[in-house]
Amino acid sequence: MIHQIAPHVFDNQYKPRPPKADDYIFIYAKGQFYLDCADEKAPRVPLFADFPESEPRYLFAIDETAFYLLWENDVSLPESYKLQPTFALFPLSPGFMAFAGLTASHIAAWYDKRRICGRCGAALVHSDIERKMDCPECRAEEFPQINPVVIVGVTNGDRLMLTRYANRPVTHFALIAGFAEIGESFEECVAREVYEEVGVRVKNIRFYKSQPWAMSGSLLAGFYCDLDGDETVTLQEDELSEGLWVPRDEIPEQDTRMALTAEMIEQFRINQFTA
Ligand SMILES: [Zn+2]
Repeated sequence: MIHQIAPHVFDNQYKPRPPKADDYIFIYAKGQFYLDCADEKAPRVPLFADFPESEPRYLFAIDETAFYLLWENDVSLPESYKLQPTFALFPLSPGFMAFAGLTASHIAAWYDKRRICGRCGAALVHSDIERKMDCPECRAEEFPQINPVVIVGVTNGDRLMLTRYANRPVTHFALIAGFAEIGESFEECVAREVYEEVGVRVKNIRFYKSQPWAMSGSLLAGFYCDLDGDETVTLQEDELSEGLWVPRDEIPEQDTRMALTAEMIEQFRINQFTA
């Protein structure tokens, strides 16, 4: 999965320090980053050495390298800098750059929406000691926001419930997934989402693994569970176009480098996960 960057070590504690010349700078605008595309075949995340006069915001570190954030209006950008989607970072070296970029985009998107106090309308200011925005007028505090999501592998003997989403460009199979609502546990969320999306009841809900998932500002929690009772599928048609019990030997091999969903499907497919 994309967040697994060992032997490198991700340190997300907010420990601001003056940037070094070879620390990385993410320049953020509207959900994307400016990369130096002077060499179109090898776009490059800029270093602090490229913008030595700037005052970037500390984000996090991987090993001894720190990552910082600038907004497009903070610097004057050379012509070779182009706004690129986050996935443009995926092929870049070092290999942890994709995870670093996704994590930076989650934090940047949060900062982007926390400029003004939602209670009194005053301009928020950054805390000196932690990643938090403070209101100097009414003392409101805004902490980084993470939206919890469940990913659910529903097993029915030797078959797994695979779904396809309606109205989305994703054409490959997925697992049932959904945001946790205020007031419910993960286990209650699993049972509710499965019933809402495919109309079956489940039992024996058990946690598998979790994964940070910046694309939806989320922390994903993966669970397997077993069908309880009638296996008849009743689709929630505004959300899903298909929900099928797919036999283990008919599940296509999954590319597990990126996402928890693919890893969970693959674990079932290769029978490493059985109970
Ligand atoms: Zn306020």
